[in-house]
Amino acid sequence: MIPGGRETGSFAEYSLYIHVPFCRSFCDYCDFYSVLLDPSREGRALAERYIDTLTGDARRLFRTLPPSQVPTVYIGGGTPPVLGPDGMGRLLAALNGLLPPAEDREWTLEANPESLDRAFLRVCREGGVNRLSLGIQSFSPRSRALVHRGGGVEAIKYGLALAAEFFPANFSVDFMAGLPGQDSGVLLGDIKRVLGFHPAHISLYALTLEEGTPLWDRQGELAPRETADSLWITGRDALEGAGYGQYEVSNFSLPGKESRHNLRYWMMKNWLALGPSGSGTLIDEGRGTGLRFSWPADLESWLSSGGSSRGILPAAETLDRLTLMKESLLMGFRCTRGPEAGLFARRFGLSLEDAVPQTLAKYRDRGLAVPGNRGEGWALSKEGLLFLDPFLVEAFGELDYHFSVESISKSG
Ligand code: SF4
Repeated sequence: MIPGGRETGSFAEYSLYIHVPFCRSFCDYCDFYSVLLDPSREGRALAERYIDTLTGDARRLFRTLPPSQVPTVYIGGGTPPVLGPDGMGRLLAALNGLLPPAEDREWTLEANPESLDRAFLRVCREGGVNRLSLGIQSFSPRSRALVHRGGGVEAIKYGLALAAEFFPANFSVDFMAGLPGQDSGVLLGDIKRVLGFHPAHISLYALTLEEGTPLWDRQGELAPRETADSLWITGRDALEGAGYGQYEVSNFSLPGKESRHNLRYWMMKNWLALGPSGSGTLIDEGRGTGLRFSWPADLESWLSSGGSSRGILPAAETLDRLTLMKESLLMGFRCTRGPEAGLFARRFGLSLEDAVPQTLAKYRDRGLAVPGNRGEGWALSKEGLLFLDPFLVEAFGELDYHFSVESISKSG
C-alpha cells in the first residue's frame, strides 16, 4: 500500500535508482551508505541475499505501480562491480524481465575503473546497460593515498581503455577538486590524461567535507576553501576549453551527452529507488505536492524486513507545496538551463517571476540571472552559478514571506 492512500497506477512514468551498498574499501571523504564486502564465501553469500531481496522488491514495485515507461535506470553505490559478472547478470536479467519495453532507455552503471574487466562489461552491455559512470577523482597516487582511495594508476588506465572499448560514445568520469596534495598542475594533468580516452561526460566536484567521515576530522590537512574554489574554476575552464559544456554546477558534457537520469532529478520528475538508503520522489502534478520514499540506510534491517512482509514502498515523507517549490528551485537552478518554466507553472500555478520576483530582479540586474532554456523562464549565468547558495537563501526567504502572507490572508 502506498502511504498517503494513493491509488496504484497513478504514476505512469518514473525513473529507477538501484543502490548497491558494497565497497572493497572506504574512501575518507565518502558518506554514501556502504558496507565492506570481501570476496570470501560469506561475502558472496551476502551479495546473493542482497540480489534476491532487491529483485523481490522490484517485482512488488512493478506489480503495484506498473509504469508505462521507465526512461532511465541508474545502478549506483557503493561499487556495483563487486557483485561480479554472475551477480550483475542475475540482477540485470531480473530487471529486464520486469521493465516495460523501451527504445531509448538510458541505463547507467556506476563503477570504479580499476574494478572493471571484460567479463563484467560484457554482461552489463548484454543486460541493457548503455552508459558507465566512472569514479576516478584523481590519478595522483599521493592524493589517492591521502584519502585512502584504492586503485593504482595503471589499473585505472586499463579500466578506462575497457570503458572506451565497450561504451565508446557513452561513458562519464568523475574528478574532485580540493583533494589533499592536489594543485592546479595535478588537476590539469588529470584532465588532460582522461581526454585521451574520449569520455562523453565529465563531472568535476568540489570536495565537500561531510560530518562523520574520517576527512572531517582532518580538515587541517586541506587547502583553504578559497584555494579549492579557484582550483575548481581552473578545472572548469579547462573542461570548457576542451569542448565539454557545463550544464550543471558540477557536470560537463559533449553536446547531447548530458545525463538524462540526473536531469530528471534536477527537474524533479518522478523517480523511485530500491536498495538500502535509496530514496525516491513521486510528484502529484495536480496539487504541486510530493511523496518521498526512503529505505533504511542499514543493510541488515533492510535484508531482514525483506520478503512478503515488506510493504511496497518504505514510509513516506510528504512534501507540501512550499517544500516542493523550494526543492524545484534548489534543483532546477543547479542547471544552466534553469528550472523548466512550463513545468514549474503547471505544477504550482504560478510562474518563476511570480514566485521569486525580487530575487530574480536583483540577480538579473547584476548579470547573474539570465533567460533560461530557449529563452523561457530563468537560469543562473556561469558566474551566477558561483552564487547559487546566496541566491537560494534569498529566494527561499521570499517564498516563505509570500506563503506566510497567503496563509494570514486566508485565515483572515
Ligand atoms: S567513494 Fe565510492 S568507492 Fe569510495 S567509499 Fe564511497 S562509494 Fe565506496
